[in-house]
Amino acid sequence: MKEASFLTKVVHAGVDRRSHHGALSVPIYNASTYAFANAEEAAAIHNELEPGYYYGRIGNPTTEALEKALAELENAEAAVAFASGMAAISAVILTTVKTGESIVAPRSGYSTTQNLLKFLADEFAVETILVDGAEADAYASAAKENTKLFFIESPSNPLLQITDLSAVAEVAKRRGIVTLADNTFATPFNQRPIDLGIDLVVHSGTKYLGGHSDLTAGIVAGDADLVERVRQKGAKLFGGNIAPETAWLVLRGLRTLALRMERHNSNAYALANMLASDRRVRRVYYPGVPMHAGFEAAKRQMDPGFGGMVSFDLGTQAAGRAFVNALKLCALATSLGGVESIVQHSASMTHATLSPEERSAAGISEGLIRFSVGIEDVEDIKADILNALDAIK
Ligand SMILES: *Cc1c(COP(=O)(O)O)cnc(C)c1O
Repeated sequence: MKEASFLTKVVHAGVDRRSHHGALSVPIYNASTYAFANAEEAAAIHNELEPGYYYGRIGNPTTEALEKALAELENAEAAVAFASGMAAISAVILTTVKTGESIVAPRSGYSTTQNLLKFLADEFAVETILVDGAEADAYASAAKENTKLFFIESPSNPLLQITDLSAVAEVAKRRGIVTLADNTFATPFNQRPIDLGIDLVVHSGTKYLGGHSDLTAGIVAGDADLVERVRQKGAKLFGGNIAPETAWLVLRGLRTLALRMERHNSNAYALANMLASDRRVRRVYYPGVPMHAGFEAAKRQMDPGFGGMVSFDLGTQAAGRAFVNALKLCALATSLGGVESIVQHSASMTHATLSPEERSAAGISEGLIRFSVGIEDVEDIKADILNALDAIK
């Protein structure tokens, strides 16, 4: 039989029904500990010489179903789940890089990841060399003898920068550097970095994987040895394990990932094109429009679509605030990837503590709007956006 398409895989991934009494939905195992039949079994399972469960922080059948599902969808050998995207990202970084070693990462990306890298530099002497994420060559020229990790975010948050994943993976392989790609914006529906040579993929499961703005979760997928190290050190020692109920919610969300992403893709594509032809909008950031710097690279590595995130610049802080204040359908909120349209104004929210000069250096213009396009009727979203654009003086 030929390999099942993504549309089919996403519905069935990760579940072995026979081990759950035939249940089509994997049950939620609320268990912190598991009893053994005898000392011999305890010795074998507790010391991980035989498969089995023994303690809630280390393994759980519901969580394991989620991990297997994500590994299948990312074409990865293994996966490990966490309580949030940041728990997953910090677990990988802290198990890959030591004091005195370095990371190469994009200058523009998810703000908390940026803050984590700065914290590790200030307090643990783990250096991060920042590069232009849109320039794959910059990774090669920035890497030093002590570089252990290439961190990539593509498309990036909030500017949708595209990094050529295979180009960076190739340089890293030659130099023995681990590659970690944050695939949150694309999801495995639109982009599978492992197929392009990337070692590890990380997700904020809070966003599209869960998909309903009702949980926080994270997941790391990739090479079996690397994932095992992240599990044994990053998960077991730091303890950022996901709760079984949450793992179940992410699995439930995953079943409709393909359906949701099809609509996110087509709605965002339509919205990006509408905004690109509106005179009141200074600039549109969407990898699916030809004016975007990463358009060609995105066409090569994203399939079938460019995702549901669009950013655009309204010029001034006042215009940004007036716009979000006039929205009726789209929620003004900080997260993304839910079924509902969510908008944020970066200068007054995620990047408010920076000075206008610092924002400008980070590429965040005063009127930048980050738009997580929902799965509503695209005409209703368009009407809400046009109405809010009209409200700008
Ligand atoms: C939200 C987000 C994260 C962090 O995930 P949490 O679940 O909030 O911890 C990391 N990367 C990207 C691109 C994100 O959007």
